Amino acid sequence: MSRGNRQTISYLTRRFREVGLEPNRRHGQNFLIDLNLIELLARSANVGPNDVVLEIGTGMGSLTSLLAEQAAEVITVEIDEHLYQLAREELEQYENVTMLHQDALKNKNHFHPNVLDAIGTALAREPNRQFKLAANLPYNVATPILSNLLNCPFVPSSLTATIQLELAERIVARPNSKDYSSLSVWVQSLCDAEIVRVLSPGVFWPRPRVDSAIIHLNHRNDLREAIPDLTYWHDFVRVMFFHRRKFLRAVAVSAFRDKLTKGEVDEVLGTQDFGPQARSEQLTVSELFDLSEAFRQKLLDKGLATEFEF
Ligand code: SAH
Repeated sequence: MSRGNRQTISYLTRRFREVGLEPNRRHGQNFLIDLNLIELLARSANVGPNDVVLEIGTGMGSLTSLLAEQAAEVITVEIDEHLYQLAREELEQYENVTMLHQDALKNKNHFHPNVLDAIGTALAREPNRQFKLAANLPYNVATPILSNLLNCPFVPSSLTATIQLELAERIVARPNSKDYSSLSVWVQSLCDAEIVRVLSPGVFWPRPRVDSAIIHLNHRNDLREAIPDLTYWHDFVRVMFFHRRKFLRAVAVSAFRDKLTKGEVDEVLGTQDFGPQARSEQLTVSELFDLSEAFRQKLLDKGLATEFEF
């Protein structure tokens, strides 16, 4: 059966009925039923013959097969036993697809090692291979998946995904807006981020309660190379946004309370261009980065560890 017919609402409902299944809300099962949008997602991911593509949420495998036709290899992960079995039949013919039946995440902060192993093996098979994410993500785990991918052993050259519109807006938000958050800063410090298309609930079955968007994050090596300690930077951003409306000074005094005196915190803040009334939500990514480096240097000068305790 052609891919177009396979992802229509009548086909999906019939297949679910045949095997006595209902879409599972807990697993964020909302299938894209508009073939044009599946194609737009695949096209935006810009997949080529040297690419190893990770897809999280195989579903019935419709995006998977499209990716498999363009990529060197596709690694696709599905948590649901029934969908995994259904997709296996659909994807049998593609020799470059590795299907994993499991939770893609080990916990909120880490991918499952099987997923990392599969990516590592595929990348090592040929020189010049690039790693990309392309997925209609399960919305309950979209944030950890995107966030962890930017700090995992294999750096993706791009990430293209459907996610909740609200999350997409947080990712691309600018300072002084309500959506500007630690996620905005973390993603934008490593990637150029854009919303490719806003999607209404009607393009999915079943319809999600919220609007969605296709997002494209283009990872920039030059940005990554300018960050000397990625884990410290990631943690710094999270800590600074715990209390985004408080004065930065109060947040910093509390964050470094076991390591720096108030006087030392003021000394570091005094080297920056913004005044004492600044709040995290007003600072640009580069202002926050300069601040994080000034604090890191202070910790190093004092011979202290740069880890944060949460
Ligand atoms: N790609 C398909 C399905 C998207 S729906 C399509 O576009 O139609 C999201 C899929 O992710 C569901 O199949 C769901 O079972 C799966 N899923 C949910 N949580 C997961 C997790 N933690 N790890 C892997 N797959 C997951």
